[in-house]
This record gives sequence, structure tokens and C-alpha cells, in this order.
Amino acid sequence: MLRPIACLSILPMLLSLLSYSCVPLKENAWANHFDSLYKEKKDSTLYTNLTGKKIYALKDSNHRKMIVLTTSLKDTIIRESILANEVLDYPSWIVIDSMELSLKKAEKAKGKEQFFIVGKKRRISLICEGTREEIDRAASERAKYDLNNMKRDSTAYHIHTHGYRESSDSLPYFTFTPSSTDTSSQNFKERIGPDVILSYRVDTIDIDTGNRFKLGGEKDPKNIRYTYVPVIVFYAQKGPIATQDLSDFKKLIKKE
Ligand SMILES: [Zn+2]
Repeated sequence: MLRPIACLSILPMLLSLLSYSCVPLKENAWANHFDSLYKEKKDSTLYTNLTGKKIYALKDSNHRKMIVLTTSLKDTIIRESILANEVLDYPSWIVIDSMELSLKKAEKAKGKEQFFIVGKKRRISLICEGTREEIDRAASERAKYDLNNMKRDSTAYHIHTHGYRESSDSLPYFTFTPSSTDTSSQNFKERIGPDVILSYRVDTIDIDTGNRFKLGGEKDPKNIRYTYVPVIVFYAQKGPIATQDLSDFKKLIKKE
């Protein structure tokens, strides 16, 4: 039997053990596997990565659903991504529709860049057309005016197109890396980002075999067929963060 004095001395330890098992996940506590946490927490912001894996629940008062812009499930990479604000609120289907419409408009306009803004209240601006080289001031101001004054919302992030899908026998006009204007401090005024570029990756296909191959070897141009796959590029002021096929991104949104 424990003497009373011994009981008293272990009391603080027992209390601390009890409170440890009862307190919810701390704000900065990181676990290795988050799937179960994701389901349990109703009072948290929920994060999934770009593969749709539910990875983290962070107790806070925002209760948002966020996408961490990485395909990694590594704790350190996820932590770094969230701390660097490499996250995006789950877009609604209206955003996806506007993305697809922007790509169509860009094709019709022979690559003139198309631009729209997603608001913090999830409202969306008109799609405005820039030039083949950039979103000029007039286009960005028009979209901003529409979002602020007509839709009564403020900027969460920008989406714009780069290039368009050429006919299959000519070299592509496109680039999916952000331009210096895209990454300028002016563009990220009062925001950390990220923003979005919509473009295409090009698959090169050997017409004889039907197989994909990498450009660079000796290949008769007549034997090459190009296919253009729409991609979504997330970037911040420091440059690109992640790139994903638009079709995969759509599947991710569909999961919700
Ligand atoms: Zn751009």
C-alpha cells in the first residue's frame, strides 16, 4: 500500500497524463497518418493533397477545406507547404467550368490570354481577355471591377491562360511557367498566393508505333504527332509550386 505522501507525489503526473489524453489535437501537432483525424474533426480546417489523400485536420475556427499543393504525403513537406501558404481553398465546380471556358476562349482567340478572379466568398469575376503576351492592365482592372463592384467580393486568387492548342502538325505556342509579370510583387500585392496558370503539356507520339517518346532524338518530323493535354500550374511569387493535369484536378474536386 502507498503511503499518503507517495500518493500526493504521483498526483501531478496522473493529472498531466489524464489531461494529455483528453485535449484535442494541438494547433501545431503533426501526426503521421491523418485519414482518421480527417473524419473525426468537425471543428477543424481539413487538408488533402493533390492526389486526394486526406492528410491533416488542423483545429481552428475557419473550418475550411484546403488543398495542399503537393502530391507528397511526407510530413515535413506537407508542413512546409502549409506554412508557406502553398494551399488553395477547394474550388467550386463554377471555378472548374470557368477554367474550361477560359481555355476554349483562348483557343478561339489564337492564344490571347484569358483571365478571371476567384473571390474570398467563392464568387467569380467575368473572364477578361488580354493579349497573346500578357494580361494587360485593362483586362485585370475589368475583372477586378466586376468582382468587387458587381459581385461584392474581394480577390482570393487569379487564374489565367497561357497559349493555346495548335493544330497537330505545327509546333506549340505555349509555356506553362509563370512570366516575370505573373510573379511580380505588384501581382501579389496584399496576397501571398498561390495563383493559377492554365496551359498544355505536349505529348510527342511516334505515328508509326503510336508510342509516346521524348523529343531530342533523330526523328523525322513527319513521323511525329503532338497531343496537347490541359494542365493546371500553381505558382507563387517565388515561381511554380506544382503542376497537374487538369483532368486529375477535376477528379480531385469531384471527390468532395
Ligand atoms: Zn502569365
